[in-house]
Amino acid sequence: MIPSPLATRQQAPCWQHALREAFLRPAELLDFLELDPALPALAPALARDFPLRVPRGYASRMRKGDPLDPLFLQVWPASAEAAEVAGFGLDAVGDLQRLRDGGVVHKYDGRVLVMTTGACAIHCRYCFRRHFPYSDHLAARDHWRAALDTIAGDDSIREVILSGGDPLSLSDDKLGELVDALDGIPHLRRLRIHTRQPIVLPERIDERLLGWLGRSRLQKIMVLHANHPRELDDDVARALQPLRHAGVTLLNQSVLLRRINDDAGTLVALSERLCECGVLPYYVHLLDRVRGTAHFEVEEAAARALMEALLARLPGYLVPRLVREEPGRTSKTPIAW
Ligand SMILES: *Cc1c(COP(=O)(O)O)cnc(C)c1O
Ligand code: SF4
Repeated sequence: MIPSPLATRQQAPCWQHALREAFLRPAELLDFLELDPALPALAPALARDFPLRVPRGYASRMRKGDPLDPLFLQVWPASAEAAEVAGFGLDAVGDLQRLRDGGVVHKYDGRVLVMTTGACAIHCRYCFRRHFPYSDHLAARDHWRAALDTIAGDDSIREVILSGGDPLSLSDDKLGELVDALDGIPHLRRLRIHTRQPIVLPERIDERLLGWLGRSRLQKIMVLHANHPRELDDDVARALQPLRHAGVTLLNQSVLLRRINDDAGTLVALSERLCECGVLPYYVHLLDRVRGTAHFEVEEAAARALMEALLARLPGYLVPRLVREEPGRTSKTPIAW
């Protein structure tokens, strides 16, 4: 029952092409979804600093004519983004204080996060990185030299986490160059990639990506980001297969989002669908309190009740851990329920 990813991939357009074809104009997305632009709820925010961006394949998983579709709500620049809400600031997770040379964030023991790029294939409206001053901190400059020096110079580091933005926005040449160099740092054991691209742009998982990933000596973990079961359509399921065959451990993190996945039925279906795709749920995050995202927040008490419902309905390995990120802590903060 192993599908043949090769056959389907050869006919698929290359990922750069799919990226270029993404919806960038709100009016075009509404037209594609057969939504009435005159609806007051659909008046878009200006969002100049973080404009609409939605790959066509992802938009095709949305329900036509439904302004409350949970995939649509994740990407639509709603006018509620303009609201100033106390407690929702610019650097909610305190990363700016922890930046080391070369775009490396060393907050947690044994692991460093490398800010590879600010670019993403999709713009998620709740994103905690929407205000991040990437241009000052990108690691990919200068053939990764500063990042590699920082990592090579600290032998307490066992695991390198490629983050961003979305690291898979970079070319395979650039990523291959980085991973080959990481292979040569003897104290490293694991390579982790935090990416939403296999979900929003499954074309991205191609032979060239599998080339640099497959040849690395490091143990490989990919942490995907899906929030709703309908994001994992058959194209996504097919794209994930060759990663599993290449020995990559697949995990998923989600963000708990109001009106999108804040009900037990949706979260149960998400875990079941992830499992079908060979992905285990890892974290479910409480929203980082970033300016312009308050309308997505789910109260902590409601989140705890949801987790209790999941525990009652799912095997333990399909229940993600509920966490919050707090500035100054040495790990994610688990929320007990
Ligand atoms: C989330 C995060 C990590 C990884 O934490 P895990 O609990 O190992 O998933 C590492 N560094 C930073 C800065 C993070 O925000
Ligand atoms: S893909 Fe990830 S980093 Fe990029 S906008 Fe979405 S949540 Fe943010």
